Amino acid sequence: MLRFTADKHANEKRVNRGVEKGGKVSSLGQSADVFVAGAGPAGLAAAIAARQKGFQVIVADGSAPPIEKPCGEGMMPETVASLRAMGVEIGPTEGRRFSGISFVQPGARVSADFRQGTGIGLRRPLLHERMVERAEACGVRFLWKTPVCGMDAEGVQLACGKIRARWIVGADGQGSRVRRWGELDAAKRKRQRFASRRHYRVRPWSNYMEIYWGHHAQAYVTPIDREEVCIVMICEQPETALFDTALREWPELEARLTNAELSSRERGAVTSMCSLYSVHRGNVALVGDASGGVDAITGDGLGLAFRQAPALADAMAAGNLMQYEQAHRAIARRTMLLGDLMLWLGRNRGIRGRVIRALQSRPDLFARFLAAHGGAADRTAVLSAGAMLGWRLLDI
Ligand SMILES: Cc1cc2nc3c(=O)[nH]c(=O)nc-3n(C[C@H](O)[C@H](O)[C@H](O)COP(=O)(O)OP(=O)(O)OC[C@H]3O[C@@H](n4cnc5c(N)ncnc54)[C@H](O)[C@@H]3O)c2cc1C
Repeated sequence: MLRFTADKHANEKRVNRGVEKGGKVSSLGQSADVFVAGAGPAGLAAAIAARQKGFQVIVADGSAPPIEKPCGEGMMPETVASLRAMGVEIGPTEGRRFSGISFVQPGARVSADFRQGTGIGLRRPLLHERMVERAEACGVRFLWKTPVCGMDAEGVQLACGKIRARWIVGADGQGSRVRRWGELDAAKRKRQRFASRRHYRVRPWSNYMEIYWGHHAQAYVTPIDREEVCIVMICEQPETALFDTALREWPELEARLTNAELSSRERGAVTSMCSLYSVHRGNVALVGDASGGVDAITGDGLGLAFRQAPALADAMAAGNLMQYEQAHRAIARRTMLLGDLMLWLGRNRGIRGRVIRALQSRPDLFARFLAAHGGAADRTAVLSAGAMLGWRLLDI
């Protein structure tokens, strides 16, 4: 059973009164089947999935929509399919479709198309807007500018009162307080890297999401509109994460951006590979970055959250969060493996150079690995592609 836990002084700050769509929430003698703390992509996906199971759902967020967050803004085909399954519509003229992934390093480039459809690059606030619209249409109730400041087994504490809930979902991101209050902070592993993100007003020069590999950094470029790209720079050390410094590693990329206008303020972020021992306790469950996550280089943080959400709704409907715990582990496995592989390639310059050259000479192998990442290839296909890559490496 959870004890009541709350942030010191949080109740003294009564500035952020909860405002529900359609009117003020003056007395919060309210209750819900499911209370979701955090209305980022994970909280919204969890809320939609819970509503689709017939639960009454309230979501609170300390911010107001549309919520911005530093992100590479690329969604893989599997992520796009999850969005579609939730009923979230991205219009044909919104964002920018991309057909696959390219790996680029000085003197080498290999590209492969997705087998499962196209990916979409989409500005975060627009994704947020579309998800909020869908959640509202499903009947989710929102409390904006309403941080959650404590919880116990019966519900959550807001500055303006308490809400009772059967289930509490922590979707409050990397620095989750729900995770801390639920005593779920213990991590099996946690490895952080440092990122900075910029948008440039420039016509995308490629139909692929490009990943540039350098000595100290990786950059990935996502086409997000007809005239805009999003670029994320990721480094092991915060000093090398300075955008302009890191950019010098790829003169070709630097040249493309020399005269391009910046279309957003540069934002920094921490990205981490993190897995927790447990993502639930009592009636509390964690989803999205609050439940651990993968390095941004995988481009799959959103996809993970969108796959976790229906699994959580199923578990709540079954009255058994242990079921979610197991599903969460299974969902994370493939992306964690990819994250480890990408980080290892990033650290091992010599091997990475040979791998990219080997893939360049056999782009079909790259396509098979990409299909495996998207869940469109079975284990045997991946193992045989791995064996063939090993054979090519001996040759290079
Ligand atoms: C640099 C970078 C690049 C990335 N690129 C990609 C990419 O290209 N593709 C991809 O799929 N993923 C990418 N990711 C990962 C992706 O951004 C995250 O996985 C995703 O944002 C997780 O969503 P979330 O809802 O769990 O958390 P968040 O988006 O962080 O949302 C958490 C929400 O909780 C709210 N909140 C926090 N505390 C409280 C509280 N006490 N009470 C109420 N509300 C609260 C916050 O206001 C926020 O709205 C990237 C991540 C980084 C850092």
